[in-house]
Amino acid sequence: MDQLGNLLYKENLDRDDLVRLLALRGPADVARLRSRALEVMRAEVGDSVYYRGLIELSNVCACDCNYCGIRASNGKVERYTLSDQVVMDAARWCAEAGYGSLVLQAGERSDPAFRDRVSHLVRRIRAESALPGLPQGLGITLSLGEQPLETYRQWHEAGAHRYLLRIETTDPGLFARIHPPAQTLEARKQALADLAAAGFLVGTGVMIGIPGQTLEMLADDILFFRSHPIDMIGMGPWLPHDDTPMGAWPQPMAPEDQLQLSLNMISAVRLACPDVNIAATTALQAMVPDGRERGLSHGANVTMPNLTPVDARSNYKLYEGKPCMDEAKEECRGCLMGRVESVGRTVALNQWGDPPAFARRSAEAGEAW
Ligand code: SAM
Repeated sequence: MDQLGNLLYKENLDRDDLVRLLALRGPADVARLRSRALEVMRAEVGDSVYYRGLIELSNVCACDCNYCGIRASNGKVERYTLSDQVVMDAARWCAEAGYGSLVLQAGERSDPAFRDRVSHLVRRIRAESALPGLPQGLGITLSLGEQPLETYRQWHEAGAHRYLLRIETTDPGLFARIHPPAQTLEARKQALADLAAAGFLVGTGVMIGIPGQTLEMLADDILFFRSHPIDMIGMGPWLPHDDTPMGAWPQPMAPEDQLQLSLNMISAVRLACPDVNIAATTALQAMVPDGRERGLSHGANVTMPNLTPVDARSNYKLYEGKPCMDEAKEECRGCLMGRVESVGRTVALNQWGDPPAFARRSAEAGEAW
């Protein structure tokens, strides 16, 4: 076997190996990486694609991340919070459409009123989304930022069982450049540890193509995922937003290179962390219309159809070029199903679709931060 062949079948890829995989550019080499990632995906998590209906609950945010369009300092954003009725209508639709799971995502708030409202919504969604084909109700993923351990416990107790909190980058210098001093890498790692302690399936991830980010940093991110109890990974290209401090930063690479690097990241993560769920993110689709399909074809097995009402969606703009801004959930349903089928995959309906990684690490008990 040639050098790349050896690498693609090597166990315990090290930092140099991962850098080599991430750097692949030639179409033939990239095709081999992609095909090996799909082989590992099929063996470890299966061929199905799982849906997480995405409800962007609110764009009110106390944080000031330098890259994010809904950062607290962006005075141009019209702030909104969806009503209980709108959330419950979307959740019921999600269950009836057979999506199986939803994600409640919002800017970061940790006041007691918000904390209790989320618990209340989680309870209602679980109870009111139960159907004959989905007796436990929708699986609920939260993506609501850093919170005290007690809040994580409360939300888990209410019935949410997965949580997404991207680390964004594990490089301390880069993390500090893209966040205000009040937000620290240590606090982010502690929050991920707290989520695991509260019993959540833990999702994290990074942005790709951040100015100053190297392939070595991305390889270290993958090693971080592998050495911590992480069950789900969501990654996508960093895309500038005009009304953020990073909006004016020079783009570090050509868009086609950033896209390929993002896809190589998906494949490399699939080789390094075989039994996790990996999302084909919306940000990929912001780069090219078939970005999510390409993510699925590089080893991802989850995608997140947007259920947020169209009138609120334009106010949840994290970066320029967010796709499907005016496509209602009903239209999105047929479109996305066709996209998934176009790459030879099928959607697993009426299932939570938890990754084997969680059962494995629960059985291994003791895997700690
Ligand atoms: N407040 C929650 C949190 O911080 O995890 C959830 C919402 S936050 C907006 C969700 C994710 O959006 C972030 O983790 C970040 O990776 C991504 N994001 C924000 N701005 C972005 C940008 N300009 N380009 C790409 N992704 C971005």
